[in-house]
This record gives sequence, C-alpha cells and structure tokens, in this order.
Amino acid sequence: MKNLIRKQIIDYSDEKIFCFGIICHECGKIRKSTPIRFSKAGEIPQSESKKIIFRILYEREHEQALEKAVEEAANFFNLCPHCGKFVCDDCFLICEDLDVCRSCAEDLQEIGEPSSFAGWISG
Ligand SMILES: [Zn+2]
Ligand SMILES: [Zn+2]
Repeated sequence: MKNLIRKQIIDYSDEKIFCFGIICHECGKIRKSTPIRFSKAGEIPQSESKKIIFRILYEREHEQALEKAVEEAANFFNLCPHCGKFVCDDCFLICEDLDVCRSCAEDLQEIGEPSSFAGWISG
C-alpha cells in the first residue's frame, strides 16, 4: 500500500517548504500534506562546505517529510478492490459487503456511506 502511495505522490516542495500532494482518481481533487519547513529555510550557507551540508540536510529532511506524507495519505486514501483506482475517503464507500469507490458502488449496486474524511487540505 505504501509503495503504491509513494508512486502517486506529487512533490510540491520548494527550497523552503516540503509539501506533497496526491490526486484522487475519482473526484480529481488534490489533497496536500501538512507542509513542513526546511530547518535551514532562509539561511544562506556561508561557505562551499556549508552549501554541501545544507544540501544533504535538505535531502534528508525531504525524504523524512515524504515518508510522513505517505503515512498521512495511507490514513485517508483507499485502493478500490474492484477497479484498482486510488481514491480519497470522500469517494470511497463503506458498503455492506465490499467497500468500493463511488463508481463501482453504482456499478455493483452497493449502497454505502463515505468513510469520514478528516485530514489534508483540499485544493
Ligand atoms: Zn475523491
Ligand atoms: Zn472502484
């Protein structure tokens, strides 16, 4: 599941903020992760070696932020077992027998409620 999410993640990070997004394949909305500030944001490296250190730090923090974003996403993104689409909680219905995405629920005539969504900012 996490590897799948990783593949779907869009990187919105810039030199100061780490931020990631993921698109729901059903409603097309992008959910963005909680932005995390780079610890050296705004600081100018005073030497060549500092520059290298900053870059290593950036890469490390970027990786950690990505890891966190993947974990966040795992809480409110679902893989539809029928069509294999990756959908947000708004578009994933908890049905009586099989939980599926909205379109599949229609196809299969399953009636369900969306699982509650409380997480990323949509936009
Ligand atoms: Zn959705
Ligand atoms: Zn589906």
